[in-house]
Amino acid sequence: MDLCNIDDIRRVLGRHGFRFSKSLGQNFLTAAWVPAQIADSCGVDRDSCALEVGPGMGCLTEQLSRRADKVCAIELDRNLFPVLEETLAGCDNIEIVQGDVLKCDLAGICQEKFGDAPVYACANLPYYITTPAITALLTANVFRAITVMVQKEVAQRICAPAGSPDYSAFSIYIDYYADAEILFDVPRDCFVPQPKVDSAVVRLIPRGKPPVPVCNEKLFFTLVKAAFGQRRKTLANALQSALGNTLGKAGIVQLITDCGFDARIRGEKLSLADYAKLTELAEQRMAQ
Ligand code: SAM
Repeated sequence: MDLCNIDDIRRVLGRHGFRFSKSLGQNFLTAAWVPAQIADSCGVDRDSCALEVGPGMGCLTEQLSRRADKVCAIELDRNLFPVLEETLAGCDNIEIVQGDVLKCDLAGICQEKFGDAPVYACANLPYYITTPAITALLTANVFRAITVMVQKEVAQRICAPAGSPDYSAFSIYIDYYADAEILFDVPRDCFVPQPKVDSAVVRLIPRGKPPVPVCNEKLFFTLVKAAFGQRRKTLANALQSALGNTLGKAGIVQLITDCGFDARIRGEKLSLADYAKLTELAEQRMAQ
């Protein structure tokens, strides 16, 4: 059976009375080159294991099983279990776990299923949980690499450099934890049902430690969030919500110019290193 062949997909799903759920982001791949290329580029091999989120009917799971020692796939929709039992019947190194990727203990599952083996995360992520799912995978702090398919615009935001139109608080968040790269685009006609947007595959390699030292992580992300929460405002105005009570308007402008930035600069022009500098000086001023 070809798990990306549209006729095979319809036949198997029909036999099990399965109906696609839009609310669970169920768009299954119908182009065999895509799961093969994701599995090829995710880094997994016979000496390592793969954790997949959302196997659907198993096209990526099967490709991972051919390359990895073991595969564990977390699927929320119980209706897919009888389907997966049939489609993955020949693969004896796959375990499917029922659960919600946003609620389960990913580090605990990896330890239980794979012991101390290196683990690579892979997914064709459902659109509705892209950001929290990537956050969960990154903060689990157990993956050698995280290779995920997401909406193309999200992939561009993840990898956007400072000052570019797609640059966002999420770009900085990702850059803090990982080295991100867009691997390839996947057009919308590679899925059933066909989504309204194109996709792209992104690979995140966790850094272990941030690219520059950050003295106070909580304050750093508060400032980033405030700056991008009102990105049409100058940085000085946008930081009012975070620092207005302690530093006042004049103090914020002073802070910005003391960091070496123009008083009228916008937050989207600052790099991760610039925010680290801003955080350090803000912490000192707040303690005075
Ligand atoms: N991997 C398959 C493919 O590429 O054809 C299916 C990908 S489909 C975009 C997303 C899959 O994630 C679906 O199987 C869906 O049921 C599952 N899913 C949705 N929400 C989930 C969640 N919170 N936790 C785990 N799996 C979820």
